[in-house]
Amino acid sequence: MAILKVARMGHPVLRQKCQPIDPEKITGPEVQRLIRDMYETMAEYNGVGLAAPQVHQPVRLVIAGGEVDDEGRHNIRVLINPEITVLDENDRLGMYEGCLSVPGMRGWVERPASIKVAAWNEKGEKLDFALEGFPAVVMQHECDHLDGILYVDRIEDTKKFAYEEEAERYLDLAGQDMDEEESDG
Ligand code: ZN
Repeated sequence: MAILKVARMGHPVLRQKCQPIDPEKITGPEVQRLIRDMYETMAEYNGVGLAAPQVHQPVRLVIAGGEVDDEGRHNIRVLINPEITVLDENDRLGMYEGCLSVPGMRGWVERPASIKVAAWNEKGEKLDFALEGFPAVVMQHECDHLDGILYVDRIEDTKKFAYEEEAERYLDLAGQDMDEEESDG
């Protein structure tokens, strides 16, 4: 396993459309190693999600967390070739997002609050599930990376874009729980 170098905003790998992964190769050594390394990298940097282009691999693979099950366990999903369908375009959720590729910053972004996701998992199984609230935001943030989109592109009011320290001091970070605001994708 290895902790991988995270690409920062300005690196072209973050701005390209990533290539799909052949589902037959998911259980092969290359993809499995990338998944393990991405897990380790995300844990090292306390991320709540990570997309393959953030570790210089322009393929359609993300790891996304933010889900807590009924027993309070965190569910972190590996998704390959994910496709998102918005369930209700008018139901939107705003929060201060962060990103491991834009370190030290926070910006206010509003996104659809409920989505459906279709993808393959790390075992090469087809998944289809719904998400709402914070995990839906994390998933959209990560999947945006696969199309070369960063959360900063979605900030409508740049007065709500700040360094972490100033954001904590001067912006209204309240209204989201502390775990969430500390998390970077
Ligand atoms: Zn990100």
